[in-house]
Amino acid sequence: MSLNPCPVCGMKDRYRKIYEIAEGKQIILCVCGLQAISPPLTMEEIRKIYGEEYYDIHGMDHFRDFFNLKLRTCKRLINQVGRYMSASDNTNHLDIGCAFGYMIEAAKSAGYDSQGIEISPAADVAIELGYNVRKVELKHAAFPEEFFSLITAIDVLEHIPEPKEWLQECRRILKKGGVLLLVTPDCSSLTAYVRKDKWPHYKVEHLYYYSPPTLKRLLTNIGFNEIRSRTGIRYLTLNYITSHYKKFQPDSLETKVLRMLEALSPRRLFEYPLCFPSEMVITTRKI
Ligand SMILES: [Zn+2]
Repeated sequence: MSLNPCPVCGMKDRYRKIYEIAEGKQIILCVCGLQAISPPLTMEEIRKIYGEEYYDIHGMDHFRDFFNLKLRTCKRLINQVGRYMSASDNTNHLDIGCAFGYMIEAAKSAGYDSQGIEISPAADVAIELGYNVRKVELKHAAFPEEFFSLITAIDVLEHIPEPKEWLQECRRILKKGGVLLLVTPDCSSLTAYVRKDKWPHYKVEHLYYYSPPTLKRLLTNIGFNEIRSRTGIRYLTLNYITSHYKKFQPDSLETKVLRMLEALSPRRLFEYPLCFPSEMVITTRKI
């Protein structure tokens, strides 16, 4: 059982099942509001998930388009976080779970001295693209204490089996006054409420599901300050959305509607980057 004890409230066995999802997994809810997957993945399953298939760019139709959309979303996040940075900060930036390096690219173009870590084979692509990336987990990365002014982790926290220890390590390597920016699905969002067990973020590799209050509580327990949360936005094209649905939900109603639109609409409409509400964005500071 995964909430034993719960990383947010520390209670044991105070959960109940809320949904059954794929592959014999359940979504369970702790009294504190944290949701988790049960039974949690074994280390063996985790290694398998992040193997060759996880970021298969050969199976990805439009790698450059995909990269550019992610880059656009990351540039927006970097611009927004710039407001919280002080002029005296150094420019050391770390992106955890950097995939192909789009956040590193966004941060570099904003003047940061940027590096990343990534455990999936996407790391090899990022290195080939010339980014300063190591294929290592945070706990084994041995970064010096109080080194970074900014740490970002986009769509990462939900994959972390020991979030408390992971956030403590983030805090250790962050300099005083430094900022941590997290983007993670919000299980209290309207989409989650409406889609229930069909919420697209319920996936076997997502181990914990946070809401603004549970994540704030966890960060406060660890000693973070100035915690702010908001709903983020991401850029997507109809091309991207359609190929995603064709791949992952080929028989869904959404896929049928998108296929019909694709046949009827001008091509340029499908290539235009559109803004969509996305996961929650949390920024917090080490004081
Ligand atoms: Zn709890």
